[in-house]
Amino acid sequence: MAENKQAFQKCINPACGAEFECSEAFFKCPQCGDLLDIKYNWDKIAVPKKLSDFGKRWTTRNNRLDFSGVWRFRELLNFCPDEFKVSIGEGQTLLQQNDMLAEFIGMEKGSLHLQYEGLNPSGSFKDNGMTAAFSHAKMVGAKSCACASTGNTSAAVALYAHHCGIKCTVFIGSGRIAFGKLSQAMDYGAKTIQILGDFDDCMKQVQAVCTKLGLYLLNSLNPFRLEGQKTIMYRILEGLGWSVPDWIVVPGGNLGNSSAFGKAFGELKQLGLIDRIPRLAIINATGADTLCELVNNRKLKWNGGEVDEKIYKDFYAELTAKNFSPHTCASAIEISRPVNLKKCLRAIEICNGIVRAVSDEAITDAKALIGKYGLGCEPASAATIAGLGVLLAEKVIKPNETVACVLTGHCLKDPNVTVNYHKEGAGKYSNPPTECPNDLERIIKLMSQD
Ligand SMILES: *Cc1c(COP(=O)(O)O)cnc(C)c1O
Ligand SMILES: [Zn+2]
Repeated sequence: MAENKQAFQKCINPACGAEFECSEAFFKCPQCGDLLDIKYNWDKIAVPKKLSDFGKRWTTRNNRLDFSGVWRFRELLNFCPDEFKVSIGEGQTLLQQNDMLAEFIGMEKGSLHLQYEGLNPSGSFKDNGMTAAFSHAKMVGAKSCACASTGNTSAAVALYAHHCGIKCTVFIGSGRIAFGKLSQAMDYGAKTIQILGDFDDCMKQVQAVCTKLGLYLLNSLNPFRLEGQKTIMYRILEGLGWSVPDWIVVPGGNLGNSSAFGKAFGELKQLGLIDRIPRLAIINATGADTLCELVNNRKLKWNGGEVDEKIYKDFYAELTAKNFSPHTCASAIEISRPVNLKKCLRAIEICNGIVRAVSDEAITDAKALIGKYGLGCEPASAATIAGLGVLLAEKVIKPNETVACVLTGHCLKDPNVTVNYHKEGAGKYSNPPTECPNDLERIIKLMSQD
């Protein structure tokens, strides 16, 4: 079956390796329960010979697929016919060379780049994945869909579901969701169910609900979502004139992005479209540092797909015994049982990747710097610059290496964290407002103070 198709689904567990057509929607291997992957028979796909051929589509961007920053690269995620492809203009994002921030953190001019995914229609990178997953949902004729979310997934799902005329329910944990994100889910018309529990609880419930009611699931378990997220890397290469950076730095939550990035580079190398693979640095928050603990301390590895499951199962049992709930101001990465763990381990192997964890204090300080010198971002995104600081101090990353940090979400997503940081005046780079009487002379006097 698989060898006649351009694309098919395959279980990542080598002991199983079951294959399925892309016209099916499972989200987990129905035979062994492991993650599914999208595979391509590249010899059946007319992939452009050079990456720069994709760039030529800028000139034909009145074609909606050429306009999309995801579908512009469609031969590299060729799992559905064009008629099903959904686009609302995602992926019009920016790779900003930021010399001011580079200088501030001790890097050479020209070396630091910020990939601002906050410019997507719903304000986070999640749109890259949703455009792909909703195309698949349309292909399989889904009528109703659901997701669990720390916030941005629900915003993106709500937006795309409405566009596709698919009913949608989003599950969020209680309390810890950023208001910018919650406001979007409601405004875009999603049925929003707030569960008394954390994200990991929501994730468990939504899988059960989707199985019982036959809903289309849109968490990053969904392998089609990750295909769309690969394009973030293609756009970074494009922003660098189709050259490969030394490092990609990304925050790690459910580990969909890091998994997708590793897959993207592995495929490009296999296709001969790049000659080397950048290294990947994945940054956890210290209050939600499962990946960091498993990889650095417990030596969990991809190991050709033969992952030693006992290592992470024991760790999760310890978390359960402690009644552990993750805590970080970077709510988008406040996850302790990342669903894409295994695929992320594969990405770490492909990209010679490393993992670090950074404190909330480091995250909010970094966020203030990205705001001051760049275009701003939400807290989870700032973990990249905080992590870069750690890696520069460790001399793992050198000041003259080319680094691209993925700023995953828009700076207006979580205004509470920003306002608290500046107003309290407690952070290193706090910039609190000054109160002043309604009097011209006093105002002018205040303005001349510094
Ligand atoms: C979802 C999200 C993350 C986490 O990404 P994963 O792919 O789950 O690791 C990080 N930052 C933001 C802004 C997000 O919305
Ligand atoms: Zn399987």
